[in-house]
Amino acid sequence: MRNPPWHRDEIILALDLYSRLEPGQIHARNPEIQELSRLLNRLPIFNERPDEVKFRNPNGVGLKLSNFLALDSTYHGKGMQSFSQLDKKVFIEFEFDTEKLHQLAKHIKTIAADPELPNQLYLIPEEEDGEINEVQEGAVIYKLHKFRERDLNIVVQKKCNVFAQAGKLLCEACEFDFNAKYGELGFNYIECHHRTPLADFTSTSKTTINDLALVCSNCHRMLHRKTDRLSVEGLRRLIAS
Ligand SMILES: [Zn+2]
Ligand SMILES: [Zn+2]
Repeated sequence: MRNPPWHRDEIILALDLYSRLEPGQIHARNPEIQELSRLLNRLPIFNERPDEVKFRNPNGVGLKLSNFLALDSTYHGKGMQSFSQLDKKVFIEFEFDTEKLHQLAKHIKTIAADPELPNQLYLIPEEEDGEINEVQEGAVIYKLHKFRERDLNIVVQKKCNVFAQAGKLLCEACEFDFNAKYGELGFNYIECHHRTPLADFTSTSKTTINDLALVCSNCHRMLHRKTDRLSVEGLRRLIAS
């Protein structure tokens, strides 16, 4: 049985290592390649690994880096031509933005190195429509964001505070009121959105009440759609115009 194709986040990590190695260092005995292999095995992305032993083993990681050689116009050898469309896409995306590449890779690595987080993030599903794959920060960072939004204690506290003050829970972007629309069924229902842009998210930062915004499901979806650059206030203005 074959393992799943490489995920965008994995390709980002591999490309980050590639950018620091000389072509002659790309082989399965290189300790850095072995370390990346272990890291990829800790990433909270694939629940199912049909071939557990081969999953992102040093040979496979070395092969992935050789795929980049084939895509690299500054390399005059051949490299391995068996790269995927996604490999090519990610390679082009970061070809002239290694700064961003390092930053993302560092970020993903910190999450993967945490003793608890990877197991918790496995429980956060990927978006079904696949749009989240377009988010530059990638799935692991996105999952951390979602995980923080589900931090029950702080979410309950946020809702209680707002309800105590306003007597209702309105969407901060469009003012939708679940209780007014759905009656008893919608009582006390609203979603929580974490305001920190994905790029600034760290695995250690603790969520405070002020980080959270109350939004309806539609607005929440829009806030996360494709980019992640839209703030709650920005969406509010967009609706008003
Ligand atoms: Zn709304
Ligand atoms: Zn959100």
